[in-house]
Amino acid sequence: MMKRYLLAPGPTQVPPEVLLAMAAPVLHHRAPEFAELFGQVRNDLKWVFQTQNEVLILASSGTGAMEGAVANFLSPGDKALVVNGGKFGERWGKICQTFGIKVVELRVEWGHSVDPQAVAEALRQDPTIKAVYVQASETSTGAAHDVKTLAEIVRPRDETILVVDAITALGVFDIQTDAWGLDVVVAGSQKAFMLPPGLAFVSVSPKAWRLAERAKNSAFYFNFIKERDAQVNNQTAYTPAVSMILGLKEVLRMMKAEGLKAMFGRQSRLAYALREAVRAAGLELFPKGVPSDALTVITAPPGIDGQAVYKQLRVQYGITAAGGQDHLRGKIFRLSHMGYVDRFDVIMAMAAVEMVLKDLGHPVALGQGVARAQELLRAGQG
Ligand SMILES: *Cc1c(COP(=O)(O)O)cnc(C)c1O
Repeated sequence: MMKRYLLAPGPTQVPPEVLLAMAAPVLHHRAPEFAELFGQVRNDLKWVFQTQNEVLILASSGTGAMEGAVANFLSPGDKALVVNGGKFGERWGKICQTFGIKVVELRVEWGHSVDPQAVAEALRQDPTIKAVYVQASETSTGAAHDVKTLAEIVRPRDETILVVDAITALGVFDIQTDAWGLDVVVAGSQKAFMLPPGLAFVSVSPKAWRLAERAKNSAFYFNFIKERDAQVNNQTAYTPAVSMILGLKEVLRMMKAEGLKAMFGRQSRLAYALREAVRAAGLELFPKGVPSDALTVITAPPGIDGQAVYKQLRVQYGITAAGGQDHLRGKIFRLSHMGYVDRFDVIMAMAAVEMVLKDLGHPVALGQGVARAQELLRAGQG
């Protein structure tokens, strides 16, 4: 027998309570019970998003909401500034191109955080840019972008919106949609939301709705105006993922029981402990900018193939983590600790990394990283 552990940056672990909630008989989506359920999760989602804006619930992976966040606000020929600091930033660019948007790309070396002044400068140079697309947490590199400062730059522009992919940020660290003025915020179920893949969430500000009213909409399924008009009445335009929404209700109950501040505190302590443990084991963290608390990205030591680490973790130890993508393939490996995780997930991750590196012939003293994590995560610490 091999016990399996899921430490991938999506999908992530799902609490047993949530699995059980999703096993309930399927509700009909036009029944009054569904409207009641939907009304409750709509409200609670606003609490997680820290917003009064409508948060649309879509049956799709996160990319569906990203696509909608391009198609609904811009028209062919419009210009968008895309922060490309990794695989997901690159995806914003590809979606924009698909919808005929002219992309002004702000390239950020993978692993670095964008310099907000570079965004300000790009907007000064081209005031016709209608939207800025960015990640709050770039999962492919483990770097976070400072969306709060970006919002300060974009907010004074009446004709420009800030669109934030917060798929591995929302629920992990503080994202104040309204207080900071984030126009569009995208999240997904299988990351910090502790659910299986299949739901995406997107909040839309009044400024962004004004753009949507004018945009030459090329969306049918991901038509945000149509969804909004249905969802404010606790209905959906098309058949919702009812069982996932039952799970979402349970997730939101758990989140409210913990509280936002405590949840961010837990995520941040775990992330800090693992980063410190990695250093104590003599390893190097990959992000050069601000590290995201959603996951820890480790540079493969010289002579060690990052893909081999990822593979050995899975094959020998039953742990599913992640490797690197594109030019980072083989150079890094990634361990997630977002969502349903506690100190022992982090200690286990460090223990397994030490064991795998030793298996692969890297001179590592077993227990050094683990001891550091244990020390930092003992009861009453931090
Ligand atoms: C996972 C992820 C996505 C969306 O991916 P899907 O596979 O469509 O859910 C987008 N952006 C980031 C930063 C992600 O981590």
